Amino acid sequence: MVSGQTRAVVIGAGVGGLASALRLRHAGLRVTLCDNHAAPGGKMGRWCAAGYCFDTGPTLLTMPHVLRRLFADLGEPMEAHLEMRRLDPHAQYVFADGTQLTVPADWEEWLQTVRRMEPHDVDGVERLREVGRKIYRLASQTFFRRHPLVPPGLPPLAALRHLPLRDAWGNYARVVQRRLRHPHLQRIYLRYPTYVGSSPYRCPATLLVIPFLEHETGVWFPRGGMYRIAQALAQLAARMGVELRPGRRVVAIDHSGGRVRTVHLHDGTTLAADVVVYTGDSAMLPALLGAPTQAPAERRSLSGVVVLLGLAEKIEGFHQHSVFFSADYREEFDDLFVRRRFPRDPTVYVHAPDDPELAPPGGQALYLMANAPGDPGLRWDDRTVEEAVGAILERLERSGLRALGQRAALTEVWHPGRMAVRFLAPGGSIYGDNSHGWRRAFLRPANRAGRPRGLYCAGGSFHPGGGVPMVLLSAEIAVRLVLEDLGR
Ligand SMILES: Cc1cc2nc3c(=O)[nH]c(=O)nc-3n(C[C@H](O)[C@H](O)[C@H](O)COP(=O)(O)OP(=O)(O)OC[C@H]3O[C@@H](n4cnc5c(N)ncnc54)[C@H](O)[C@@H]3O)c2cc1C
Repeated sequence: MVSGQTRAVVIGAGVGGLASALRLRHAGLRVTLCDNHAAPGGKMGRWCAAGYCFDTGPTLLTMPHVLRRLFADLGEPMEAHLEMRRLDPHAQYVFADGTQLTVPADWEEWLQTVRRMEPHDVDGVERLREVGRKIYRLASQTFFRRHPLVPPGLPPLAALRHLPLRDAWGNYARVVQRRLRHPHLQRIYLRYPTYVGSSPYRCPATLLVIPFLEHETGVWFPRGGMYRIAQALAQLAARMGVELRPGRRVVAIDHSGGRVRTVHLHDGTTLAADVVVYTGDSAMLPALLGAPTQAPAERRSLSGVVVLLGLAEKIEGFHQHSVFFSADYREEFDDLFVRRRFPRDPTVYVHAPDDPELAPPGGQALYLMANAPGDPGLRWDDRTVEEAVGAILERLERSGLRALGQRAALTEVWHPGRMAVRFLAPGGSIYGDNSHGWRRAFLRPANRAGRPRGLYCAGGSFHPGGGVPMVLLSAEIAVRLVLEDLGR
């Protein structure tokens, strides 16, 4: 048992901060958890009004075993806190030419669908899956378990680089296009890098681990919405004696003599700390240590425009997850990463949870999301937001979903400007840096800062990356380093 007097301050009460605080507390440290916002959850947020309740961030969970392991490590069965449901099908895709395609949870069924579309591509999707499987096997022994050391000679990266697969180290889009002939199948696979805020045309094919994991571990959703996960973790933290400080922004970390000493809050309060775990955006950490913030636009991952619509009536024929593709994907990514503007014709993801807790009887809480640039230089004034919402509704209109905007009893919009302020994330980027090029994909900022001593980092913009399961892994790695350094 570590001394009860070892004081840890965790900055940020998103999933990464909650998981870090819980693990540190479980190991016997005195833990204070500060977040600039009044409610916990960070990007895993919730917005409720007029009988509707919307998740405002994540809408699906993969790798549920990672969340289950967090509860288990704390001595709590996950089932006592959350009722998780596996979704089938995974998603319905609607293409600009009107074609619709449903991706089932079962792999064999998916192969049958592929066979009907293009027999040659059965081999292609099997090969892409195999690349994903091999990367996952290797990463779960290395990359997903340890923090990155200093290159070169970095064992996890070296292991990945020696992966005996030409496909794994190629460009993601080129590998997909080489393996698959059918343009609709290509499109489905090209979408996965956006799960980590990146362009399929600029990231390494190692990200094929994402579609592999989606099929292998399933797509899950808790009863009551994703926010239930954050709520369950926050309640557990309070019960275990983590001191929660909501509505407190950390403005500086004092580090005299080469190690962390005190954390300063915006209201003038100071907290003494032996250990600090920072879980905000990596670009903002230097500012807390007295150095300038650096968030160059070309490094930032995607942000998003999320439109929440409260409908009095359900829309029939909808699965929980649907994707309405733009006509020209390449053009869309050029808008996002080259011209750095909201796409003229965006691909729109629609989340229609079938959960009576989330809407009044007979109604539907609908969540629409399109990718947006995470460029700190972009201004999101009323006109820009209106144009973006117009483009989203226009894409749905053209794909057959008529007059959604007019049918909504309630509308709320989250845009990159709002996300930047709420999450203290330059440009509203969801995942910190993008994963363009293997260095950025695999050498994400480390979980142990090194300097000052006592400072650790977890969360979506640090190693191993973004998305709820990776963030939970990040907290696992960071806390293991804290305990190692404390001699555990
Ligand atoms: C629209 C959207 C859709 C998404 N969809 C999915 C999905 O379907 N599946 C999935 O797995 N993931 C999804 N994600 C990503 C996922 O939500 C994130 O990767 C994850 O929630 C990040 O958790 P985190 O703890 O790293 O960071 P955050 O959730 O950002 O938490 C960090 C917290 O720290 C606070 N903070 C920062 N700096 C300070 C400071 N100086 N002082 C005090 N507080 C501070 C921030 O305000 C924030 O509350 C989505 C995200 C968004 C926004």
